[in-house]
Amino acid sequence: MRILLVEDDAMIGDAVRTSLRQDGYAVEWVRDGRAAEAALSAEHFDLVLLDLGLPDKDGIAVLQSLRQRKQTIPVIVITARDGVGERIKGLDAGADDYVVKPFDMDELGARIRSALRRSSGHAEPEIEVMGVRLNPATREVTRDGRPVMLSAREYAVVEALMLRPGAILSRAQLEERMYAWGEEVESNTVEVHIHGARRKLGSDFIQNVRGVGYFVPKPGAKT
Ligand code: CA
Repeated sequence: MRILLVEDDAMIGDAVRTSLRQDGYAVEWVRDGRAAEAALSAEHFDLVLLDLGLPDKDGIAVLQSLRQRKQTIPVIVITARDGVGERIKGLDAGADDYVVKPFDMDELGARIRSALRRSSGHAEPEIEVMGVRLNPATREVTRDGRPVMLSAREYAVVEALMLRPGAILSRAQLEERMYAWGEEVESNTVEVHIHGARRKLGSDFIQNVRGVGYFVPKPGAKT
């Protein structure tokens, strides 16, 4: 999962980025409204954490132009402006949720997981495909009821595929979900982690379409 963090306060930005990376998210951090717009038009993100008081372009303006472009990516507003009026303005401009500074990282984490679940169309917190169950909130994975230990990268690949069963994700799309910008991508890394995940979850769980990418079968689909 890739998160765009838009925050001009160095201390808050650093703390949020560190905490989210520990939770296994790929996090990109930009510090003003224009950089946020540039990143959003050039790259894929699964969620935006958006401060409202920003240099160059206000967070509300960033949000409005994002929604005018019909981008439905979930946005959580992070703001020190705790007045009711500001919150309403943010929600009216298309925010999915908001947190008021100072906020608790555990609470932010829970709001992020909830927004990601809603946006991927899963009201239920757990996803199940072919006897494999994944809980995005706790990051627990079981196979036929037995717990399976995945590495952080294996988990990132499996989660990305399970959120959209039947959809083929290319190697580049999977790499995007596993690494942040500037992080060194080892060669053959996707293959290595898919191999690891298959060993733990079953050889036919992740399927390959040669030259195109990988998918997990839709529940009930014949493969
Ligand atoms: Ca600010």
